[in-house]
Amino acid sequence: MAIERIVQASVNDDPQEEQFENTLRPKDFANYVGQERIKQNIKLAIAAAKKRGEPIDHVLLYGPPGLGKTTLASVIANEMGAQIRITSGPAIERAGDLASLLTNLQDGDILFIDEIHRLHRSVEEVLYSAMEDFKLDIMLGKGPTAKSLRLDLPRFTIIGATTRTGALAAPLRDRFGMLHRLDFYTVDEIADIITRAAKILAISIDPAAARQLAERSRLTPRIANRLLKRVRDYADVNGDGIIDTTITTDALAMLEIDGLGLEPSDRRLLRAIIDNYKGGPVGVETIAAIIAEERSTIEDFHEPYLMQIGLLERTPRGRRTTPKAHKHLGDNKTSGPQQKLV
Ligand code: ADP
Repeated sequence: MAIERIVQASVNDDPQEEQFENTLRPKDFANYVGQERIKQNIKLAIAAAKKRGEPIDHVLLYGPPGLGKTTLASVIANEMGAQIRITSGPAIERAGDLASLLTNLQDGDILFIDEIHRLHRSVEEVLYSAMEDFKLDIMLGKGPTAKSLRLDLPRFTIIGATTRTGALAAPLRDRFGMLHRLDFYTVDEIADIITRAAKILAISIDPAAARQLAERSRLTPRIANRLLKRVRDYADVNGDGIIDTTITTDALAMLEIDGLGLEPSDRRLLRAIIDNYKGGPVGVETIAAIIAEERSTIEDFHEPYLMQIGLLERTPRGRRTTPKAHKHLGDNKTSGPQQKLV
């Protein structure tokens, strides 16, 4: 659905969208808003590595999509004065693909692997020794005549990103020297990010509108930037291009984004639990079936924010809506046709 594509903080495969994101990506720590504790830790690691004349330790970044993992990886590369190569777990199909990526690196380079939890098992195993002692073990041939070959690799750094550490094999997780969980941002931080993006894109937005937009951006920079772009379009067509609170309110109503930043599919998810299961607990597979969403979309995108703002709880027996969710949706109202499970 078009509306959901706008707000879902999914991995980018639209080149235009990617270019838009790159324009707004901060290049250094000074412009990377928030995540103070992580920045402090990483700055220290960078300073120590520079002093020793070594690359920094492998870093694993995890957290919901759109919170700034890719951006942070490129900030680290920039601050280290290193080259960064960007790839993703599913893009490395065979051990040979990884071998060619690694042998093409130079000393000090950073290899960023997005969605690292989706690496193929056989690729993962090759990565272990590469990360541990900068050696590449490759098998030549098959069967009794097969030979193993050990190659020296340059000293590189892997920065892995994942939405869930739980999905990562323990031996892989253990090979990262630093693990950092990115948190949702505060409304103030998101307002700063919006103001900064507006400046870069030469958009005029008044502070009250920036704040209103921040409150509805799921505390996620990618969504804040995308909404800013949508509201700018709305202001260009329906006003004089200046974004004020009236324009923002109207544009967000058109996009069906409510006061808490929920989109229609979030509301459908909560409604499914309230209407069909009296608020739960109910298993995630069942919810996925009722609202016709992928389980991974629910777990990576919907749930973290709904839990963060206290509308949904995870219990050992499944998901449960909170009184706040009931209040937000209005107890007796239903939005659209209900699907009953018998
Ligand atoms: P992830 O890799 O976690 O999915 P990205 O790093 O691609 O997220 O971030 C998405 C967009 O959000 C980027 O284009 C960037 O402009 C913006 N962004 C992310 N984190 C920050 C931040 N801390 N400060 C400013 N902008 C940010």
